Amino acid sequence: MSIPDFARYRLCLDHDLAADVRLPLERDQANYLISVLRMKQDDTVLVFNGRDGEWLAAITVEGRKQASLTLLRPTRAQPPAPDLHYLFAPLKQARLDYIAQKAVEMGAGVIQPVLTRRTQVARLKFDRMRANAIEAAEQCGILSLPEIRAEQSLDAALEALDPGRILVFCDEAMAQESPVAALSRVAPGPLAVLIGPEGGFDAAERARILARPATLPISLGPRILRADTAAVAALALVQAVLGDWPRG
Ligand code: SAH
Repeated sequence: MSIPDFARYRLCLDHDLAADVRLPLERDQANYLISVLRMKQDDTVLVFNGRDGEWLAAITVEGRKQASLTLLRPTRAQPPAPDLHYLFAPLKQARLDYIAQKAVEMGAGVIQPVLTRRTQVARLKFDRMRANAIEAAEQCGILSLPEIRAEQSLDAALEALDPGRILVFCDEAMAQESPVAALSRVAPGPLAVLIGPEGGFDAAERARILARPATLPISLGPRILRADTAAVAALALVQAVLGDWPRG
């Protein structure tokens, strides 16, 4: 992997990126670069959009809150989007912010909120989830932005999964088996991870999840974790055993 350049500010912009393209900045973006980061004419930043890799760009200061960027050259190629779906029962705001950030950092390609019987949150702020995902990607040098999907009922989400996609189901009732042993039995292929709400799944939901043929229930250890902790633990375990490390 090419190590990202963390000396430069990295900015996600929703424009197509190519050599010599000039991109106007929004007022608040220009203000941030000029007034907060104290950038001057021809200083450079890194730009990405989730599609066209990462580019070095030079700033043209046009006013106190007005600036544009000119793309100079590509710095990193666009990596393939991670094929890991993260299904979770949405949590209240601060924890939802955290989940959107951590899912990106841990390499989720699709973020799928799932409504369960004990889900506490009815309406989701997608713009805020997206802003959190983008902020994490900017900070960590991640070039793939996850697709954040509209919420679905648990049944619809199970139905929508490709039958061949292994669903790693975080199930606190599985405490007797090591998750590493369980995950090691899985052949490489498309994966999804499912975490329940703070109140857990009810018995009928758990039975429906387990009835799906390609479901693998795993334990995250003998302690019950909060759902946001469980998200990071589960994604780290799945990435460690089956994830995007080069195999030797
Ligand atoms: N059933 C409990 C805990 C819910 S914790 C309750 O009623 O409070 C929220 C979610 O995190 C669970 O649905 C599960 O998906 C996951 N989780 C938490 N601790 C876990 C563990 N030790 N093993 C597997 N999954 C766990």
